[in-house]
Amino acid sequence: MTNLAIIGAEKSGRTSLAANLGRKGTSSDVTMYNNDKESRKMVFVDPHGYPKAIKPLITALNISDMAILCIPPDGLDKNNPASVHTGECIVALDLLGFKYGIIALTKSDSTHMHAIDELKKKIKLMTAGTSLQDWECISLNTNKGAKNPFEGMEELKAKINKISEKIEAEQAELNNLPARVFIDHAFNVTGKGCVVLGVVKQGISKSKDKTKIFPLDRDIEIRSIQSHDVDIDSAPAGTRVGMRLKNVQAKDIERGFIISDKEIVSTDYILECTISKFTRAIETSGVLHLFVGLQSEPVRVEKIMVDGQEVKEVKPGSTCVMELSGNKKVAYSKEDRFLLANLDLPQRFVGYGFPK
Ligand code: GDP
Ligand code: MG
Repeated sequence: MTNLAIIGAEKSGRTSLAANLGRKGTSSDVTMYNNDKESRKMVFVDPHGYPKAIKPLITALNISDMAILCIPPDGLDKNNPASVHTGECIVALDLLGFKYGIIALTKSDSTHMHAIDELKKKIKLMTAGTSLQDWECISLNTNKGAKNPFEGMEELKAKINKISEKIEAEQAELNNLPARVFIDHAFNVTGKGCVVLGVVKQGISKSKDKTKIFPLDRDIEIRSIQSHDVDIDSAPAGTRVGMRLKNVQAKDIERGFIISDKEIVSTDYILECTISKFTRAIETSGVLHLFVGLQSEPVRVEKIMVDGQEVKEVKPGSTCVMELSGNKKVAYSKEDRFLLANLDLPQRFVGYGFPK
């Protein structure tokens, strides 16, 4: 099973592509498109609430194993206001260290070969040194009325399948770890009780498991598990699941809650941070937005240390230790990558960090 995020700026062709690859399912600020017709089941996640908000983008990426970055013919034009969001998506993927993906050069029917080659060159320059530097570019369209309708779509599917093999091999190795399930939706179903949707990030989650939900830190039991509407007894790493839970109500669950035996729960953080080259200096007492897993919340910068010295500000492209304080309880593990953002800047991603 592979979960893919289809991202890009507004009008980059994300929704058209997702709708072409799967059947529409759950929808909130992200929409799931399922494909269970092929031997490999896939879920395509369209963060349609982006670029208005960045939370849907992070949600889509953190429940996915692979990304398709959509860039339309004018996606990098300086005078196109949407180009800042193409850049922002590249920064987000790089800060997340996102390994697997494809760059879809969308709307190929509305441009020409020479322009596509120029766009590829621009992309090569922009992604050099980032986690996207080796991603393949595939020129495609989803326009059935085009001279060359659905050009590139078969090539895209073949490439997705090839990358999925690598991802599945990596996921198999995660099965030995303790089970962790990231929840993205929770609701009450009459006669069934609390149902959550999410993805098994590591380990194998089993029906009848007695485990906990965080940051509530409450004992729960997994009553039953479904994947693509079929009942299953156990869900290995990478599986997108629906679960019925005992001893918790849907109204008490927020996006990002984690089903696991053990998590750290905190409102304050000390992170070893790497600040993006594509942001401004960060000052103490400023407010940033923190993302970890599928959780997010505003935090205050309490203290910045560079090379063991307390400083007033940290420059783009450097590393530091940052102390942050928030109000809401957040659950995470030591290996989890935190993302930091400044919602007041045009390119909103600021850096990433790991708990010290
Ligand atoms: P999103 O905002 O990224 O989700 O983009 P949409 O998928 O909604 O597409 C934006 C606009 O571009 C719509 O009017 C689509 O009909 C159009 N569009 C999307 N894909 C293609 C394509 O391959 N060729 C052409 N000509 N138009 C497209
Ligand atoms: Mg859309």
